[in-house]
Amino acid sequence: MGFTEQRKSKQAPPGKKNKRWEEFLEEFKSEIGKRQYQVFGTLLELERESDDEVTARVPKSFHKEWLTEKHGDALNSCFEKIYTDQKNLDITVDNKEDNGLDATKEKQEEDLQNVKRSFPFARNTDLNPGYTFDNFVVGSTNEYAYTASRAVAEDPTSYNPLFIYGGVGLGKTHLLQAIGHKIKQRWEQANVKYVSAEKFTNEIIQALMEKNQKEFKYRYRSTDLFLVDDIQFLAKTDRAQEEFFHTFNELYENGKGIVLCSDRPPHEISKIEERLRNRFEMGYTVDIKPPDYETRVAILQKKIQQSGIVVPQEVINIIASNVTSNIRVLEGCLNRLTVTASLSSEEITPELARQKLSDYMDDNRQQTDKPLTIQQIQEATASQFDLSVKELKSKKRTRSIAFPRQLSMYLARELTNSSYAEIGEEFGGRDHSTVIHAENKIEEKLEESDSTVETQIRQLKNEIYS
Ligand code: ADP
Ligand code: MG
Repeated sequence: MGFTEQRKSKQAPPGKKNKRWEEFLEEFKSEIGKRQYQVFGTLLELERESDDEVTARVPKSFHKEWLTEKHGDALNSCFEKIYTDQKNLDITVDNKEDNGLDATKEKQEEDLQNVKRSFPFARNTDLNPGYTFDNFVVGSTNEYAYTASRAVAEDPTSYNPLFIYGGVGLGKTHLLQAIGHKIKQRWEQANVKYVSAEKFTNEIIQALMEKNQKEFKYRYRSTDLFLVDDIQFLAKTDRAQEEFFHTFNELYENGKGIVLCSDRPPHEISKIEERLRNRFEMGYTVDIKPPDYETRVAILQKKIQQSGIVVPQEVINIIASNVTSNIRVLEGCLNRLTVTASLSSEEITPELARQKLSDYMDDNRQQTDKPLTIQQIQEATASQFDLSVKELKSKKRTRSIAFPRQLSMYLARELTNSSYAEIGEEFGGRDHSTVIHAENKIEEKLEESDSTVETQIRQLKNEIYS
């Protein structure tokens, strides 16, 4: 069987059913199972049949790749079983559709521009390059979530949806994006969409306001793999849930993969409509718990290995035994220590570790494991920029205040589990869009590798965790 694209002689009569072809599809469906078949098997159409060859057609090369890579053997054996006259099966990519796709590409670009214009904050759906499976340390408390994520990366509809839940800083976003990376790596053309439920909500509201629902629908419903983070933030508004429900159903029915993350299991998300909750529970729900000691050590070792800095095992043990419930804080501690050591050219010794991480060693250890508050971030920022917290929250827009304000909004987003609205509220009752704007601004600078901003963020984190 060859999967090359060759010119064929006879065209199959349009609309007319071909019995043997139907039989073959039935055979193929029963061989790989209905669920798998629904992914892309339903897209197989008979293009033409000649004396020595049967040509099938699929809309995109992505579909062809999927079918041949994943089900090549099954296609082969089913075909031989039905077409006993030694014909060859060939799969081509629908040319007409391809042209169509090109046309759509322009349309896509145009739509994208429109979308960008309409939603200035709709960018940055890109995946964090560091959040890969390779960088993920597997331990007993995250192994089920990890295995399930790997399965989805193999076959996006393995569970549909996969629902991962767990506390702050335990690797949910990391796993979600790792799935996205893997799929992109294997099928470059796959349309992978990563979005937080909050951003999704904001975009819907914006689209409604600007009567731009068409672009909005286009944006999401053309997705092959839909990764939705922090679903607990999906707004209670009917329209947001309604639109999410439709997007979910449409993707699901078209055999596209859906993965959701949340800080709690579906039945505890009280804001969400029953019918949506039912959808979430339709697939497989798996949790991530705080890492055990061995995993914490392994995570620290991995980060150290990546940074190339030498840190004695004893220091690693000190950090691992004192920061127990949040991997982001674990990283923050290590970061803080290595930054301090490099700024003062000191060696990283257990003494230095104890001294610098004293907060974490105190008997108020409980407290250090508590999530950071926005106030703590504001205080650290104010002190670093010689401002008062009051100024940070004020309406003043001079650059000397506006920039630190943006930085601390950015950090509030990164380091706490607060929604845009909550952060805006803490910054003098600002609108959520102001926070999104601030986040975008800082991200832009980081994307440009602005070293001043990078240093400021590092120092701020340093201050925050001190
Ligand atoms: P969540 O989304 O659950 O709040 P994140 O995925 O943002 O948590 O993880 C917080 C930080 O910890 C990230 O920098 C992430 O790379 C890191 N992290 C989490 N779990 C692991 C792990 N198992 N191995 C390595 N790094 C991890
Ligand atoms: Mg997250």
